[in-house]
Order: sequence, then C-alpha cells, then structure tokens
Amino acid sequence: TERSMALADQAKRVAAEFDFGPDAVRKSVKEFIREMDEGLQKEGTELSQIPTYVTAVPNGTEKGLYMAVDLGGTNFRVCSIQLHGNTTFSLTQSKVAIPQELMVAKTSKELFSFLAKQIESFLKAHHEDHYTSHVKRKQAGDQVKEEEIFDLGFTFSFPVHQVGINKGLLMRWTKGFDIQETVGQDVCALLQAEIDELHLPVRVAALVNDTVGTLMARSYTSPGKTGTLLGAIFGTGTNGAYVEKLNKVTKLTQSKDAGDYDKSTGEMIVNTEWGSFDNSLRTLPNTPYDVELDAKSVNPGIQMFEKRVSGMFLGEILRLSLVGLLKDPQIPLFRDENSATNDIHSTTQVHDNSPIWQQWGFDTSLLSICAGDQSPGLRVLRQTLDKDYGISAASSEDAEAVREIAGAIGRRAARLSAVAIAAIVLNTGRLDSSSGAATTEDKAGIEPPRGDVSSSGRGEVAEEDVIDVGVDGSLVEFYPRFEDHIREALREVEEIGEAGEKRIRIGIAKDGSGVGAALIALVAGRVA
Ligand code: ADP
Repeated sequence: TERSMALADQAKRVAAEFDFGPDAVRKSVKEFIREMDEGLQKEGTELSQIPTYVTAVPNGTEKGLYMAVDLGGTNFRVCSIQLHGNTTFSLTQSKVAIPQELMVAKTSKELFSFLAKQIESFLKAHHEDHYTSHVKRKQAGDQVKEEEIFDLGFTFSFPVHQVGINKGLLMRWTKGFDIQETVGQDVCALLQAEIDELHLPVRVAALVNDTVGTLMARSYTSPGKTGTLLGAIFGTGTNGAYVEKLNKVTKLTQSKDAGDYDKSTGEMIVNTEWGSFDNSLRTLPNTPYDVELDAKSVNPGIQMFEKRVSGMFLGEILRLSLVGLLKDPQIPLFRDENSATNDIHSTTQVHDNSPIWQQWGFDTSLLSICAGDQSPGLRVLRQTLDKDYGISAASSEDAEAVREIAGAIGRRAARLSAVAIAAIVLNTGRLDSSSGAATTEDKAGIEPPRGDVSSSGRGEVAEEDVIDVGVDGSLVEFYPRFEDHIREALREVEEIGEAGEKRIRIGIAKDGSGVGAALIALVAGRVA
C-alpha cells in the first residue's frame, strides 16, 4: 500500500543517515593512527594511551595458583585460578554485593577492610590448608614461606593514574562510589594494608585494567603460535589494550617519575582508552541522533567513539531515531489506519508509559533481536515490542522499519570498531612480518571457513602469520554478524585488503578479570 511504501522509504532515509562508507573508514583509520602516536608521546591527548607496566603476553605454558579480585561496580568478585600450563585453567570464585553504605563511607578503611575480609572468607572456604598452615607459622613466629604467598591481580575499574605494575592512584570515583579520602591514594597499598592486618598469605602483585585482562586471557588460551596483539571490549562501554614497542612509548621511557618495569622484552601493553577516540569529531559520523544523545548525556563532548559503538548507547540512538519518525504525523509508523492528528501520543499504538518516551528506555539487546529475527512477518520483533516496549499491534511494516534502522546503527557500530582494530594492526606493523608460508590462496569456488567467531581465519593462514585479537562483551558476543561487519570494513582498508583481513583472527576471550588478572599477577611476580 501507499502507506507502507511511505514508511519503508522513510526508514531507508533514516538508515542511510548511519552510512559510514569505505572512504569514511579509511579516513578514520588514519586519524586513529595519528592519535595513537600522539598519545604515546604526551599527556592530555584524545587517546590516553596509558602505559600499563605489563611487558609481555602469555603463551599458554604459564603454570601456578593465583588469586584475582574485581571491584567494578555493584559486586566484588574473589577468585583463585589454577593455570595448568597447557592453555587451560580452572577457576573458583565467589561474589558479594558491595553494601551501599561502604560505597559512600567516610574512610577508605571501611571499604578496603570489607574487601580484605571477603578475601579471608574465600581462603577459608576454598584454600583452608594453605590458609591455616600460613596462620600457624605466623603465630609460631616462624619464617613465612614465599611459595605460600598468593600473588593477586586486582582489577579495579575506576580511573587510576598507574605508576607501577602494582601501584595506582585513584583519580576519581565513578558509578555511585564516593569516598573522598581515597582520591589520590594508591589503591593497591590500601588493599595490602588491610590484607596484612588479617595476616593473609596474599600479595597484591598487579593492578589490572579489564581490557589488559582480556588481552592476557586471550593470549593464554589462544591456540596460536604468536601472542595476542589486541584485547578489546564491546560491552556497556568499549576500550582496547594492545602490545606496543617500548621505544615508541616515549612518554614513559623519557619520564623521570616512571616506576620500574622490565625492559628486556622491548614491549609494553598500552591501554588506549579508545572510548575517547576523535572527541573533536574530525572523522566520526554525527547524525542528529548522535548530537541529541551527546547533549543529554552526563558527559557531553567526551567518550564520543564509545557513544557510537557500545551497548550503553546503541539502544538510545535507535530510540531517538524512532521518536524522530513519530514526531512527523505524516509518517505512518505505529499508527492505526484511520488516525490522523498531530498529537504524537494519542493516535499511535505506542502506550504512554512505553520506554520509547524515556531517555535510555531502549536496551541494545533490541538491536540484536532485530538483526536476528528470521520469523515470518518479524513476529519475534513484534512480540518483543509488545511485551517489553509498550508498543502493541505493530504491523510487519512497522517492524520492518525498526529493523532497517536498527540494522544500520549496529552495522555502523561494527564498522567503527573495525577502525580501531585496523589502525592498531597497521600501526604496530604486524602485517609487515609474514612467514611467506601462507598455505592456500583463495581457491576458486571454495568458501573460506567463516562465521563462527572463534574459528574464523583458521585453516587458510599459516599459524605464525595469524594476528590474534581477543574480544569480550555482550555486543560482540550476541549481536548477530557483528564480526562479519567488522571484517567487511577491514577489507575496505587498502593496506589490509582481503589478504590482511584473513590473517586477523578474532576470538572471544572470556573472564579477563579472572584468569587475565591472574596472568598479570604472574608476570608481575616474575619481575618483583
Ligand atoms: P559489561 O561491559 O558491563 O561488563 P556486558 O559485556 O554484558 O557487560 O555488556 C552489557 C551491555 O551489553 C549493556 O549495555 C547491554 O545493553 C548490552 N547487551 C546486553 N545484551 C545484549 C545483546 N543480546 N545484544 C547486544 N547488546 C546487549
């Protein structure tokens, strides 16, 4: 009908606003490389390029028993990790909610003594022998056995100024925490002091950023011969950490107040903080919906890349684009046949209390449902709109329009993700080194194995030529074909092309704050 034609055209028009074509990708990759280099040289740049003091990635042969704790937001997680030395590990963990009053306590001690007590309970529950023999030795005044001490990796997901592998000063609290006394203090020392007060056999060996944990976890578990190049998170937020040549990290190597680090590997893992890539919008796309989202956010003008890529924001971009259509009474989205008034609320099939009228009302999982719905007439999507979004009796044309726009937003997010991956692959020179042992060229008619996140790229590239990338987060894990969209954009970058794209292996890296943090504690222990 005429109405559905009009709606389909409008949906196509809005979807086209999210186009981020090959030229845009290439331009953005150049800008990313420029900002990477700038960030390695000085402070206060768009990409923070934070040196992590971690100077090597694991190769899967690491062994031993380690501990890890994770203070990220609502929960505190304690785990012990047995690394088996054959790319596998076993993990025991416990999790407790942080009591609200401790998040806003008067003193650091109130929070950190609580954390130490959780570590104590964990040790008693899961490593009792270890714990008791240590305590007995202490009570008897005997020498503490070095091998009895657990090295612990501390994942602390708040902004810190890291000045050593186990030393970092809290810059500010976020996510509802507010303990003034802690700001400016070394959070590792605070935790160690409380651990020591309880006489626990635990040494805070490393302060861990979650992307670095992802990189380490992937490098340990990845079957490849070369270490992982990049760990990236596409979840609530987005960020990446990669292996850089130490001599390029001049703001560390030429700094007078840098802490100690191992110089022998010639490498250092750098935390890009790429959520702030191109905050000045030199190359990022900027639709009216991006503008509105940013203006109404708590931090306008910052995290501009993240606001176009990550799970916290994609649902909101979709919501704003649909509200844009609803505002125009001529556009027949979610409207009964016979309605014709200018009131956007009363004539639609959208309930007054629908989350479509509320900022942040749409979850990014809706985009995944759109992209994955293969039912006739988009029945699954229409049911979801009805059940979870207060939009009843949506027609299949309505659902098709939602899907068209949602797909464009998801595709743009994946293509932007490819910008970061492409820039890091190119700027680290990983493509330049090739064994020349590529096993097969594209044989006519034979499709390369593809699709499964964990196996793509394998089987057609010599192992030593693989460039390994570990990823984590609900968006990359659950958004259908996210990796395919990334790969398409990677191929469009001339310096990568089809040959380079095949060498890039992207695999899920689970549990960066567990096994990843343990591995950082391990490498930190070697240096200390
Ligand atoms: P975090 O990054 O906080 O550790 P996740 O990786 O689970 O946690 O990411 C959570 C984010 O992912 C939320 O913003 C949520 O909206 C989004 N999300 C949850 N489920 C899905 C899904 N099925 N598809 C896409 N995004 C999702």
